[in-house]
Amino acid sequence: MTNQMQPVSGNTKRVTPHPSHPDRDQATQQRFASKILALSGILQSTLEINELLALFAKEIRQFIKYDGLTYRFPSLKIDIKLGDQPVNNCAYELVVAGDHLGDLNFFRHYPFENSELETIENLLAGLLYPLRNTLLYQRAVESATMDPLTGVRNRAAMDSSMKREIGLALRHNTPLSVILMDIDHFKLINDQHGHLYGDQALKAAAQCAEQSIRESDMIFRYGGEEFLILLTGTDLKGAELLAERIRQNVENLAPQTDKAIRMTVSLGVTALGPSDDINTLFQRMDNALYRAKDAGRNRIVIDTAVK
Ligand code: GH3
Ligand code: MG
Ligand code: MG
Repeated sequence: MTNQMQPVSGNTKRVTPHPSHPDRDQATQQRFASKILALSGILQSTLEINELLALFAKEIRQFIKYDGLTYRFPSLKIDIKLGDQPVNNCAYELVVAGDHLGDLNFFRHYPFENSELETIENLLAGLLYPLRNTLLYQRAVESATMDPLTGVRNRAAMDSSMKREIGLALRHNTPLSVILMDIDHFKLINDQHGHLYGDQALKAAAQCAEQSIRESDMIFRYGGEEFLILLTGTDLKGAELLAERIRQNVENLAPQTDKAIRMTVSLGVTALGPSDDINTLFQRMDNALYRAKDAGRNRIVIDTAVK
């Protein structure tokens, strides 16, 4: 933390809701108080972090010229960049009641002046409480939709995402594919190495699959040791390639512990057809997985009987 008024690259100033400004007169404090209140009121209209930052960026532009800003809050994987990021920046660590609320940087192609920095610092006070509410909300959403063991989305998230994406794909006539992945002989892994090791293996398989897919694809823990991968904008051919890549990646997983167990998965793949609904799609995906198991496991089966 530094008290200097001119934060430069590499020097982060800590911003809290009630900074003391002994050198500021009563009138200035009053002037900022009403602006902070107005800003805070506007920002309270959303609990969506991208929207909040976009609103803040727009509002603060009435007072300060700048080229862009960034906001980072790594524990919720939030990394937002707005506008350009030229060389001059001022960096702030946002803090409320000892809680770290992320790091905010303003960028400009020429340096910020002290009076401008003072304005930014004052206006930031209007961001802090709406930001805290948004982060609390995002964390609640995350814990309601994440599977704590594997770190991928849970069954509840799967149900709502599937319904939404299938509806969109049918309406807009865009491709959508699904992959159901099931770990082979997982009961044996548990029986031979214990449940704790089983848990680690489960997590490793889920993360391996997650790292094999694109940002726009989604993976969910469907139940036990089964995972569903939802591929929007991807046809059957693309899904087949991805399923095979996941199969190989899991097979080649480096052992996570000293026990070098080989783990394999079977995958059933299908694509949405114009006459499909969520039930027919699931039936075909399930059926493809069943056939992969039946044919000896550690393989993919494509169901081409698209409705
Ligand atoms: P298959 O190749 O036919 O899929 O055989 P399998 O043994 O994988 O299938 P089965 O459905 O018989 O067994 C799944 C096992 O997964 C049984 C269950 O105890 C275990 N399992 C489910 N959830 C968890 C979990 O969270 N942790 C651990 N360690 N095991 C789990
Ligand atoms: Mg299994
Ligand atoms: Mg299973």
